Amino acid sequence: DNAPAIAPNATAEELLHSVFGYSAFRLDQKRIIESVLAKQDTLVIMPTGGGKSLCYQIPALMFEGLTIVVSPLISLMQDQVSQLSELGVRAVCLNSSLDLMEYEENASAVRSGKVKMLYLAPETLFLPRTQALLKGIRVDCLTIDEAHCISDWGHDFRPEYRKLVEVREKFADAVTIALTATATHQVRADIKRQLLIPDSHEFVSSFNRENLILNVIPKSSPDSQVLQILRDHPNESGIIYCFSKAQVDELATMLTSRGFSVKPYHAGLADTMRAKNQQLFIRDDVQIIVATIAFGMGINKPNVRFVIHYDLPKNIESYYQEIGRAGRDGLKADCFLLYSHSDSQKIKFFISQKEEAEKRTALAQLANLVAYAESDACRRYTLLEYFGEQAQDRCGACDICLNPPKDKIDLTVPAQKFMSCVKRSGERFGSGYIVDILRGAKNQKVISNGHESLSTFGIGRELSKPAWQNLGRQLVQQGLLKQDPEYGSLTLTAQAIPVLKGEAQFWGKIVSDTPPRLRPPSPS
Ligand code: ADP
Ligand code: ZN
Repeated sequence: DNAPAIAPNATAEELLHSVFGYSAFRLDQKRIIESVLAKQDTLVIMPTGGGKSLCYQIPALMFEGLTIVVSPLISLMQDQVSQLSELGVRAVCLNSSLDLMEYEENASAVRSGKVKMLYLAPETLFLPRTQALLKGIRVDCLTIDEAHCISDWGHDFRPEYRKLVEVREKFADAVTIALTATATHQVRADIKRQLLIPDSHEFVSSFNRENLILNVIPKSSPDSQVLQILRDHPNESGIIYCFSKAQVDELATMLTSRGFSVKPYHAGLADTMRAKNQQLFIRDDVQIIVATIAFGMGINKPNVRFVIHYDLPKNIESYYQEIGRAGRDGLKADCFLLYSHSDSQKIKFFISQKEEAEKRTALAQLANLVAYAESDACRRYTLLEYFGEQAQDRCGACDICLNPPKDKIDLTVPAQKFMSCVKRSGERFGSGYIVDILRGAKNQKVISNGHESLSTFGIGRELSKPAWQNLGRQLVQQGLLKQDPEYGSLTLTAQAIPVLKGEAQFWGKIVSDTPPRLRPPSPS
């Protein structure tokens, strides 16, 4: 074949220029490559779009033997292989989408020793014929991409990743490099434990993507809000994430009828249709993709200028990954999360129907998202702090920093009322019930609990029910109350005491988030 020859003995830097065409390494790339070349097991935590691929692709070109790359998604590995082929690098993949002839063709390319990188789905790696193929071959590096799949703490657990440790044992001379964009300590620890690389060199790159402008928008009339964002981004490429396939179809249809260049993407579409829509988007033949979270893993489109979350994402990690698809060219890009408290309640309801083990994690993840969306703190500060990074408390590039919320007022008295009601009713109830007592509602539950005789019964008629509930959430956010993630029951924390005793004030806002009226899009 006509692939240009790669200079033998080229340095990592030379390969960066000559093969990949880049002028300089980014983030920790250089140090990571050095670590791998020194055959030190290496764990790489780098945000989506940070440039993880080069960290194993450059060593792969420099090693004499083969580099195995384990990757969870077939589409992802095919993209990588074709990109590498365009650069003149011999790489092939083996996965279940190949027929026997293609498999044999790729296998014999591996046998010939000309292939530098072999991309594999984990289940293919464990097939006897793959094992037999690899038996006689020198493997210098085992790359485990999307390594968080090994951890059930992560967002994409794949049991077959757990067996990779056996592969490590088979190729004792190979260095292991595991890469992921999931930074939490639990996932990191789990990767090291499961892969038996306790002493691996660990590289954690900054999660700060300064070019992403972070916005949370109170979701009132989402369709109109989306239209407004699209008008503000004429002819720019963007992704709109929805929770359900039905919502994707509906929104895509609406936007198409308004004359926007849009395609849908979700698991309910035929594979060919999905692949086609993705291609159209990547090649800029379509401006906007409306998608479920099925879209995006391994998408490498540099000029995505906005990402809209029409619904709440699954958790902070997924949110970070999804917005990470914007602005990969380093230019400014806008991220919008349409948030409503009632959406979070709906999700909570779905979660409540899950199995016990799943439930607690899911509820804790939801609580994090709600805290992020409802917080008055700088969005970037909140995100980075979540990922364990020190950050400045004002970034200047999020909705909070650019448009600080109105000044707070002294709400000590209502806070005292709310919290004493929590205390007197035994710290066993959720906010809705507390507010019923405060507002003197004589409903079945209040009466059967005998709570109409509490001294706090009916002392809070001055505020509406939504305003009280919002105050309750502010008390949770500011740490005076704690809410059980599963049952919603409220308890006092130590921080509540000085406010109850009148020794400290509570500052907050009166927000009566009455449910907004949804305006149907006006006919065009
Ligand atoms: P990740 O796997 O971390 O999400 P990729 O490896 O796909 O990220 O890289 C993201 C983008 O950044 C790609 O377009 C890649 O070619 C580009 N890139 C990676 N390293 C560099 C570099 N040193 N200089 C310029 N661009 C780079
Ligand atoms: Zn900010």
